[in-house]
Amino acid sequence: MEYEGIVYRPPSEAYSLIVQVTIGCSHNGCTFCGMYKDKKFRVRELKDIISDLEQAKLDYGVVKRIFLADGDALVLKTSELKIILLKIKELFPGCERVGVYTTPKDILAKSVEDLSLLKALGIGILYLGVESGSNEILKSINKGVTAQNLIMAGRKVKESGIKLSTTLISGIGGREKISENAIESAKLISAINPDYVGFLTLMLESGTPIYKDIQNGIFHVLTPEEVVQELREFLENVEVTNCIFRSNHASNYVSLSGTLPVDKDKLLSDIDITLKGKHGYKQEEYRRL
Ligand code: SF4
Repeated sequence: MEYEGIVYRPPSEAYSLIVQVTIGCSHNGCTFCGMYKDKKFRVRELKDIISDLEQAKLDYGVVKRIFLADGDALVLKTSELKIILLKIKELFPGCERVGVYTTPKDILAKSVEDLSLLKALGIGILYLGVESGSNEILKSINKGVTAQNLIMAGRKVKESGIKLSTTLISGIGGREKISENAIESAKLISAINPDYVGFLTLMLESGTPIYKDIQNGIFHVLTPEEVVQELREFLENVEVTNCIFRSNHASNYVSLSGTLPVDKDKLLSDIDITLKGKHGYKQEEYRRL
């Protein structure tokens, strides 16, 4: 197996075989993201990807889950993904799920029929960073798409039957846009109704444009209490059915999880206990990406 640079994967893929299909992210422009800044985006040669899969077969034999890295393997043409997924089926007949990071543009470039074919070939979950539902915030972080684009992309995935995991970022609008981030994100998630919605909390990476804005006093980072208030406002306003909610990522100040809508009241009550000072916030030095 060959890995190039730092490889990122969602927490739920901790025990998956990770195979790099692309190097970096095809967008690589979000102002808060430093994950792939040291990588020039490219799609790996198919022969190298196949060779990694064959090596993994020799090394591990049985594999139950596979994650195709880096930043957005869904950018590959459907015909290229088909070759990779058929090879996975041949080598790992017991593989239960293939997971992939995607950008909204990758999804929009595919038809529902393409996505349904990819589901039939093994892709079980797509991870989509929506970051915020506010058009102003999406523009300010250079996400490259509008909230409407994100809704269209999310609904396409749902229509195909592939599970959709979405992530939002607490504090991504700064102190001036706490309510806007909460309410517009709740509207976006309500419109998509994904299978999973997770919150990360903004982490500051030196060298990113947002980091420079903070140093120049243009962007104001939320306190832990403000992060939790923003989360509360989101939860109050979101309307989904059977959606697993998590804000238990290493970057979060307070760990919460449940299923929406059934656990909404419990989640709000846990937040209120935290805000009343009866629960502590994770210390800054223990927060991670
Ligand atoms: S947040 Fe996602 S889409 Fe944006 S640059 Fe980072 S990896 Fe790419």
